[in-house]
Amino acid sequence: MSVIDEIKQRIDIVDVVSQYASLKKTGRTFRALCPFHSEKHPSFFVYPEQQSWHCFGACNTGGDVFAFVMKKESIDFGEALRLLAQRAGVTIPSRFEPGAEGKEKERAYQVNEAAAQYFHNLLVNSPSGDKARNYVASRGLTSKTVAEFQLGYSLNSWDGLKQYLTERGYTEGELLAAGLVIQTEEGKTHDRFRNQLMFPILDAREHTTGFGARALDDSSPKYFNSPQTPIFDKSSILYGINLSTAAIRQQNMAVIVEGYMDTITAHQNGFNNVVASMGTSVTEKQVNTLKRLTKNMVLALDADTAGEAAMLRGIGYENTLDAEVKVIILPRGKDPDDVIREDKQNWQHLMEEALPVVDYAFNMVTAKLDLKTARDKSLVVDKLLPTVAEIKDTVRQAHYLQKLARLLKLSERSLDAALGKIKASQGRRQIKEPKPQAMTRALRPLLSSPLEEYCLALILQHPELKDKGEGLLPKHFQSSENREIFIAWQQANDLSSLKAQLDTALHEELDALINKSLPANQIEPKYDNCVRRLREIFLKSLEAKRAEIFALEAESGGTGADLAKLEEEGIEPSIQLREVFAQKARRRQEQQR
Ligand SMILES: [Zn+2]
Repeated sequence: MSVIDEIKQRIDIVDVVSQYASLKKTGRTFRALCPFHSEKHPSFFVYPEQQSWHCFGACNTGGDVFAFVMKKESIDFGEALRLLAQRAGVTIPSRFEPGAEGKEKERAYQVNEAAAQYFHNLLVNSPSGDKARNYVASRGLTSKTVAEFQLGYSLNSWDGLKQYLTERGYTEGELLAAGLVIQTEEGKTHDRFRNQLMFPILDAREHTTGFGARALDDSSPKYFNSPQTPIFDKSSILYGINLSTAAIRQQNMAVIVEGYMDTITAHQNGFNNVVASMGTSVTEKQVNTLKRLTKNMVLALDADTAGEAAMLRGIGYENTLDAEVKVIILPRGKDPDDVIREDKQNWQHLMEEALPVVDYAFNMVTAKLDLKTARDKSLVVDKLLPTVAEIKDTVRQAHYLQKLARLLKLSERSLDAALGKIKASQGRRQIKEPKPQAMTRALRPLLSSPLEEYCLALILQHPELKDKGEGLLPKHFQSSENREIFIAWQQANDLSSLKAQLDTALHEELDALINKSLPANQIEPKYDNCVRRLREIFLKSLEAKRAEIFALEAESGGTGADLAKLEEEGIEPSIQLREVFAQKARRRQEQQR
């Protein structure tokens, strides 16, 4: 038995959750006010039989005991494992402890932390930090803010930092690995950051992973940051996340801006749920990072660059999040820093006016057209229908199809037919499976999950499956360990970077999956089948949980409003489930032909 299984055996989810929420037994389940969001009517449930939990309210998420502890304590899988192991009295083999790789990372965090302190001290105390201090004052930042964000100054010198750190026992190799020094062709090293305002970049767990820097003279580029290192991956880190986690959870919303100063000014003015994508457009990985905190995101877009591309990406994020993404468009030529400093009410106002990304796309496309003419109508359809087709959530897709029909005064049926064609051409690219296999017959859902493992083994051993985009999501995995491996697989480019991303406690399982013997042919159909089954199991289990709650609600004489609310929430999975069945039926027909 693996350590993970052993912990699951010994720990009762009811005991663990009881520490954070006051559970009341109702029938076979326990319910409580959700410990993750504030509510008046309890929509958080624990299922002792499946050892799982689910919040049917704002969180609309669930999982096993690991997922609960990870979310509640804001820690990663490895930390949750160690915490629960301790609780269960399970000894974790030393091979699961952070290995040499982990120690190297630990050291890199330390050297960055030391550098951040050095820079901060220079900004606050040294005479040479004058210019930087003036700049900070000119941007209206208070000393409290400077301390909170640990802003700093790098000397106009080639080896100020290098000397400081080597005197404190850090080796040149360590400075190089952390990206703090640059090596010349002759093999000499010098400070990377010189005469700049320094922004330490921390992750959600307060590790200093790297730096952003702003030139204080005319040198170009004005802004740059640490290079990619084992601990700094710009595409997955959000600036300010260490100071925003609590506010994002509390307000159940994250606002994503572009720059360091935007984030800092927002926080100084009490908008603590703001983080920055650091210059580039938001990445899938960043969305995944935020997803653990909230599903509601607002993108603050530049009036000049907010093009169709941004819209389409927004819809991509919606599919990742399984929720709506909103956008605000900033006044031309202004960034959030300007807007907030001019008038913070205006920022508040922009937030209130934030539009769902698809509605925004509608506005943008239709703004300059005459919707009465046939030509412009067909232009609108050409532009917007593919966008509508991208939306995975069937209810929302139907909503926007109606909106489009109303807007153009066309029948919904004619648009539906056109939409069907677009979807079919998308579908044809994906579905080529001749016949499903009988292999999934004997699989049991939940506690043990051979199907999840089979699916993971397939995708790990067949990189070509990555492009299939069959709608498999982390939530379709019921076991946290499998979910973790799946998320790492989504983010990594190859097996070695996947392994590096994964907690050492999961390496054993990963190796087992990579070496699992699999049939040699018909990989794609087998994968399709797996995905369908996983989704089906997920939706059915959700449906069953819902049904149980409905019964309870009715028994206890729940108010009509509560029932209506539950019903409203219940719509989505049943439609999705119906879809899965329809897919199955189609397949069966194809087979009989
Ligand atoms: Zn909740």
